[in-house]
Amino acid sequence: MSEERDSPELFDQIVNLCKRRGIVFPSAEIYGGFRSTYDYGPVGVLLLRNVKDAWWRSMVQLRHDVVGLDAAILSPPAIWEASGHLQNFTDPLVDCRNCGARHRQDQLEDPNVCPSCGTAGKLTDPRQFNLMFKTHAGPVETEGAVAYLRPETAQGMFVNFANVLNTSRKRPPFGIAQVGKSFRNEITPGNFVFRTREFEQMEMEYFVPPAEADQWYEYWCRERLQWYIDHGIPESKLRLRAHDPDELSHYSSGTSDVEFLFPWGWGELEGIANRGNYDLTQHAERSGERLEFFDQASGERYRPHVIEPAAGATRTLMAFLMAAYDEEEVRGETRTVLRLHPRIAPYKVAVLPLSKKPELTGPALELLGRLQQSMMCDYDETQAIGRRYRRQDEIGTPYCLTFDFDSLTDGAVTVRERDSMEQVRLPIDDVLGWLQARLV
Ligand code: ATP
Repeated sequence: MSEERDSPELFDQIVNLCKRRGIVFPSAEIYGGFRSTYDYGPVGVLLLRNVKDAWWRSMVQLRHDVVGLDAAILSPPAIWEASGHLQNFTDPLVDCRNCGARHRQDQLEDPNVCPSCGTAGKLTDPRQFNLMFKTHAGPVETEGAVAYLRPETAQGMFVNFANVLNTSRKRPPFGIAQVGKSFRNEITPGNFVFRTREFEQMEMEYFVPPAEADQWYEYWCRERLQWYIDHGIPESKLRLRAHDPDELSHYSSGTSDVEFLFPWGWGELEGIANRGNYDLTQHAERSGERLEFFDQASGERYRPHVIEPAAGATRTLMAFLMAAYDEEEVRGETRTVLRLHPRIAPYKVAVLPLSKKPELTGPALELLGRLQQSMMCDYDETQAIGRRYRRQDEIGTPYCLTFDFDSLTDGAVTVRERDSMEQVRLPIDDVLGWLQARLV
């Protein structure tokens, strides 16, 4: 299959659009920004929420075998000792003795050359740098008060395995899902929100009888790839890449990444791992809890194996933006449009009174109030209608409703569709049902 990589300009176009339209701002910008951290603006917060909601809908709401969890971000060293993160969650760090730049050795094209200044032979030997953020819980900064910001959400599911089993009446195969912030002190954050030190993950641990692990691993690889396709990313920009045996963690019998073709090449959106019973065994040994499942019907007791689909919400948001971005010529002008899936689009509809006169804005706001009961709506009464349409196109709003002077007599509004720009006239009372049928 040929790689249809987008032009490198797409990256700048997305970053500019994000700033211009309130999607993503550099964090602490008035103080010069802060080390590859980002804030999600009025439009971005909706977009990010929709990414997470779409994941939750597929992974929890539409399933009978998966329950949710929201575990603490601050966590004791015991969790990370058991999981292996304190010993192994490291990247090899090298410094350039010529220019002072720091790099991840495993990401260098030539392990002998500094990519910042081009000097050869000046890189230090690698030292293992732990990516976890360390802090202290409480007022005294003693060793006993050490706490970590979680570097992944997954351990929350493992340490709550028995709690969930005892309270949810689930039995393997079943899953525990969580969406939330994770923190990694990345040596080289970059590519906008692709790699940041604070980011959001969407992870699920699926506990299965050991003999069924391979079959569920295949199942989740298929399901997860399909999720991105179902939410509007073209198949040609996605691939499922199985890890080579030397890339696998020692406990994993298989890992595949869902990758997206970014303008700079293929990048991971999600990893699906067949983790065996490594995590539960580690926590059982360290905590003294059993962390097993007892099957009353067969009298069998076993420690389930785990399949883990682990995705990044912020990274996925970027892939959705890149896949949706389009520019086209319309009557001699360039139209920028985000062709986002309606479930991902920040606003579902914009209500636009043709004029600012109260005789139009009054009933337009009344219609807005009705629609807001069911969906996220934008409202805009400034500037010419054509410019307002373009603005909504740029943030991916699937439909615009124009309330004009005729609306006062015919009780109808004009509905304009984002992708085709086609317009239809609809009775106001039919609008909600019409939209709901199209926004599933
Ligand atoms: P990478 O190889 O890119 O560092 P990883 O394999 O360490 O990622 P996992 O630990 O498998 O990542 O985490 C699952 C998902 O969390 C990743 O697929 C990615 O979408 C997201 N993720 C991980 N690290 C970051 C980060 N620093 N910034 C944004 N998203 C991240």
